[in-house]
Amino acid sequence: MPLLGCIADDFTGATDLASMLVRHGMRAVQVIGVPQAPLPEADAVVVALKSRTIPAAEAVAQSLAACEALLGAGARQILFKYCSTFDSTDQGNIGPVAEALMRRLGAGFAIACPAFPANGRTIYQGHLFVGASLLNESGMEKHPLTPMTDANLVRVLGRQTRLGVGLLPFAVVEQGPAAIRREMARLSESGRALAIADAVTEAHLMALGEACAEHPLVTGGSGIAMGLPENFRRAGLLPARTDADALPPPGGFCAVVAGSCSRATLGQIGLARDHVPVLELDALATPDAAALAAEAAAWMEGRLEAARPVVIAASAPPERVAALQARLGREAAGALVEEALAEIAARLVARGVRRLVVAGGETSGAVVQRLGVRELRIGAEIDPGVPWTHTTIPAAPEGLHLALKSGNFGARDFFLKAFAA
Ligand code: ADP
Repeated sequence: MPLLGCIADDFTGATDLASMLVRHGMRAVQVIGVPQAPLPEADAVVVALKSRTIPAAEAVAQSLAACEALLGAGARQILFKYCSTFDSTDQGNIGPVAEALMRRLGAGFAIACPAFPANGRTIYQGHLFVGASLLNESGMEKHPLTPMTDANLVRVLGRQTRLGVGLLPFAVVEQGPAAIRREMARLSESGRALAIADAVTEAHLMALGEACAEHPLVTGGSGIAMGLPENFRRAGLLPARTDADALPPPGGFCAVVAGSCSRATLGQIGLARDHVPVLELDALATPDAAALAAEAAAWMEGRLEAARPVVIAASAPPERVAALQARLGREAAGALVEEALAEIAARLVARGVRRLVVAGGETSGAVVQRLGVRELRIGAEIDPGVPWTHTTIPAAPEGLHLALKSGNFGARDFFLKAFAA
């Protein structure tokens, strides 16, 4: 029975949150989409939705369905997780989803705290900073889907909800949980149902987490989760675990599939070339997903090993990506490569690969869908933000270890380090 039920508005955010909970002593499983009963056995279940930029009414409906499943499984507290840059528009979806969850949970008050100081996201006087810049001068003001043109989150959230939105200021947060609780009661009495919580350090996040122990709903970035596990330990509900990141032992062959064209991933492929077999697919010469997959299938024969990975990459530098896009169109170029890599991942698993790293956010989405992955148990991080995970799928009923790497994540030796662990 999960203690904490989490609803995340995107896939990589869900992994990030689950990884945070594992680091703080909770066993965590990420499920993809609204789950069917029975839920997996874990201290925390994180439902990964794709609801950040869909119409608000759909985001509300999916979030409520996820909430229902989590409550049905016994979750005692719900965490609504969104981006640490508060990615949203005046139409939503943070306000409408928070409001709907509060109504469902009978919550009179909830905090909203996207702060994540380790990644440079801090909140002071309700204003969100990214590093040294205000949110609206951080580049996020030019985001294609959720341009953030106002750093004052009290105002931003206020435009998304009919509920009163207040501020839980630094001067109070700095004093610790008792002062925070008093201020939350005062805000609630003055008609504020939501409050942006200032947080500049991890100590602030820990204090906020402790102060929210009795709240049915907490909302924020993955940072706000760090103070929550201790509440369950204090209440005697969660044992002190040193093995929250334990996964079944890995077996089988190792492989990397790369579709990210980010600088970090190109560097990781470059380094891998000197150490392990690398196949670089040329999607421009062969713009045919089935043919690319067949080429990779032939190449992998005799090369797969348990002690070191093979790397199969479609990744290319910007001028080659632009050339394929010019020929096929941007969408079709991406879709073709994703289809090829998803098929290659399936063939790798069919040939006995049981440890697979996937580089690229969209690429990971395509691979997870092709493999039929429904849930991921979260293990130890290889590099910050990228844990090993474990799943069972029809093609690997005894289990498959997966690491899904967002393009820009990971050190240069990531593809080697992942398998040394
Ligand atoms: P990231 O996490 O770095 O954004 P993604 O996987 O999300 O990586 O996005 C990379 C996109 O680029 C995918 O849609 C992938 O299919 C596409 N892609 C990969 N290689 C090529 C290529 N050689 N030419 C054109 N598009 C490519």
